[in-house]
Amino acid sequence: MNEYDSDYLAQSLINYGLSAVDNPNNADIILINTCTVRAKPQQKALSMLGRISAIKKRRPELIFCIAGCLAQEMGVRLFERFPDLDLIMGPRDIGKFYEILDSLITGRKKVIITDTGSAPPDPVRCSGFFNGRISGNISIMVGCDNFCSYCIVPYVRGREISRFPDAILSEARNMISAGIKEITLLGQNVNSYFWNKETNFPSLLHKMGTLDGLYRVRFTTSHPKDMSDELIKCFGEKESILCPHIHLPFQAGSNRVLEKMRRGYTREKYMDLVYRLREVEPDIAITSDVMVGFPGESSSDFELTLDLIKKVQFDSLFSFKYSDRDGTLASKMDNKVDESEKVLRLGILQDLQKQITLGKNRSLEGKKMSVLVEGISRKGGYPNFSGRTASNKVVNFSCDSNMIGHLVNVEIKEGMNNSLKGEIIL
Ligand code: SAH
Ligand code: SF4
Repeated sequence: MNEYDSDYLAQSLINYGLSAVDNPNNADIILINTCTVRAKPQQKALSMLGRISAIKKRRPELIFCIAGCLAQEMGVRLFERFPDLDLIMGPRDIGKFYEILDSLITGRKKVIITDTGSAPPDPVRCSGFFNGRISGNISIMVGCDNFCSYCIVPYVRGREISRFPDAILSEARNMISAGIKEITLLGQNVNSYFWNKETNFPSLLHKMGTLDGLYRVRFTTSHPKDMSDELIKCFGEKESILCPHIHLPFQAGSNRVLEKMRRGYTREKYMDLVYRLREVEPDIAITSDVMVGFPGESSSDFELTLDLIKKVQFDSLFSFKYSDRDGTLASKMDNKVDESEKVLRLGILQDLQKQITLGKNRSLEGKKMSVLVEGISRKGGYPNFSGRTASNKVVNFSCDSNMIGHLVNVEIKEGMNNSLKGEIIL
């Protein structure tokens, strides 16, 4: 979601007539978009702000801005720590950035704008910014109303609002005309997308399927408590451009912990969803988010998390150590788990998942898969190109640069920890 917001902000700068430089020391304006969902991204953002502040001390004419959830959370307190900031802007206000730029550039006034009630932004014209990219994101809703007990998102991103379907579709068309072939629809809980009786999330997916030139559609994140039969069925539809991959965060395997997290489902309900998804689409890749060390998580609760991971066999997992976020219910709970215990649990969990991911990747050896060629492989060297399967696995292989943006058939030769190696079948 922050990547989408960053693209939107970058596009606003371009629309204003500015262009990108490759070194912050040469920039006239620097905007840092931030996240505060856990302690770690918050620390990273603060140290980055410290580095930019040092540049601003050398070059006072630099316009120095912070956007995103940390800006929302800390608000005016950021001026105390970084008095040379020119703009503090919350994540709900990105639609106003273009207008604010005027007063920043011409008026040189300091601006603070942190309104969590702002309407979702209008689609921007994607003139150029997406050039060269194959995959893009569209936020279909903003905010969140779930108030999971550990989570700061509802406080910093405000109440949930779904965007007008025509705005989403016109944004998608703009992206497709700029060369995008794969779109990921974003929301904190896409399952609760609702515009009117005719347009809920599954019908929005069907509308995306009618767009000419779009090869693939994905979405993230879906919440297990709101997963409908109608959405599960979408994965079983033949000829659909919906990719067989779902990111379905489970957070914890113990019902006692899930209840304290206020997640609204049990481990049994979660595993039943996995069963039903695999029933309609046996090859569906399932990925998830999980946390260790939630307040009061005992070693037997943690064992239940490991047990769920073994039973479900996720394709991959994002795993985190719980961290207190100010203002949340969990931050006030007793029986906090020691940092050293959290580190230990995270290590055990990640070792387990590493084996499962490797096993899953190896089981694809010899299979022929359709891959969307995205560009030059990140690692450089040979094989020189990389793309992703419909199930969202990264594949490296050799091909010509004129294949970028095309779907090709690749035979998987080797499954590794984080990616696959393959050979193109002509
Ligand atoms: N809306 C998504 C999650 C968005 S936040 C959902 O409900 O699934 C992304 C992930 O960050 C969460 O899934 C959770 O695993 C993690 N997270 C959120 N708050 C956290 C906290 N206080 N400590 C550690 N991890 C956290
Ligand atoms: Fe946070 Fe829960 Fe909302 Fe996800 S659903 S953003 S975890 S409050």
